[in-house]
Amino acid sequence: MSDPNFFYPGEALSPDTMRITALGTGMPFCRRAQKSPGWLVELGNGDVFVFDLGTGSSANLNAFGVPHSKLDKVFLTHLHVDHWGDLTSLYALGMVRGRFEPLHVWGPSAKEERLGTAAFGEAFQKMMAWDIESRMGVVNTGEGHRIIFHEFDYATPKKVVYEENGVLITAFPALHCLDGPNSYRLDWNDLSFVFLGDGKPSQFIVENGQNADVLIHEAFVPAAAYAQKTHLPLQIASNIANGVHCPPRSAGKIFDLTKPRLAVLYHLMLSEDLMMPIMDDLRITYDGPVVIAEDLLVIDVTKNDIRQRQAVLPDLAWPVPSHRDDSRPRPPMDPDMIAHLSPFLQEAEIKVEGVDTDIRT
Ligand SMILES: [Zn+2]
Ligand SMILES: [Zn+2]
Repeated sequence: MSDPNFFYPGEALSPDTMRITALGTGMPFCRRAQKSPGWLVELGNGDVFVFDLGTGSSANLNAFGVPHSKLDKVFLTHLHVDHWGDLTSLYALGMVRGRFEPLHVWGPSAKEERLGTAAFGEAFQKMMAWDIESRMGVVNTGEGHRIIFHEFDYATPKKVVYEENGVLITAFPALHCLDGPNSYRLDWNDLSFVFLGDGKPSQFIVENGQNADVLIHEAFVPAAAYAQKTHLPLQIASNIANGVHCPPRSAGKIFDLTKPRLAVLYHLMLSEDLMMPIMDDLRITYDGPVVIAEDLLVIDVTKNDIRQRQAVLPDLAWPVPSHRDDSRPRPPMDPDMIAHLSPFLQEAEIKVEGVDTDIRT
């Protein structure tokens, strides 16, 4: 029998439950035990959403055993690489692993067109051209080789960016380094998930985060400790920790003003000796229920209960089967796309007896 204190991949989700999983809770300085930010939200109706997918976080996503055929919706809070770095992997791997539909990515505009999600998306597709085209010549992808970016206006205080199958996702501005970043609220089945990727406390998160079931807010280790740990001058540490992010007490202020059933702090570089200073700083402004998220935290939310567990995952995970009927014929490969090399490269191949190197549809 499995230990109820831990989550093991493959556990069924009951129809009335929202499951929120930390794929990455760290910083751009990616650590073995703390990947860059990413959150997975699975709903009892079968829907799956990814909110940010920073560098390294896809290793945790893969280990959770969610079929790639379901991973076709990503919501980016902003375009810092620690929040999108593994979009590359999800895009390329997903189409090989049975996401035969386009990958959809939502994100905000910016003050200038060149800094918005649409411009990012165009550049992203150009950057990925060789990778995607090379794979299309070897495997069936259906429409999986397509990626569609949905840019929304960053400045609108509250806007619906997704509404389908009983799921409503709204976005609202966040106060970070430049204009553009947004936060999200997902409502489904009378349950809500609110996620502030990066930023300072603001009226936007207070207005849109009221009575959330789970409110995830970034926080930094206090500036003095951050300076000491990272060898940065104190003023630079303060610029980062307080000027464009927020210390625990600032996140606590938001929790106090919104009263979530469970408050979640994340984006802290964790260290055993900082846990008490972080909590002491938080408790200056907030005395409600809170958890400091580590990677692989799993939160199951129902109307009556919020259950927190740590996931036990395989280090050497394999892909899981598609959630679709695997007996269905795979979409056809485009014969014009079949990979072929220039004659001078073909002529240089060393044929090995017993190895068929022809690529066929
Ligand atoms: Zn950021
Ligand atoms: Zn960040």
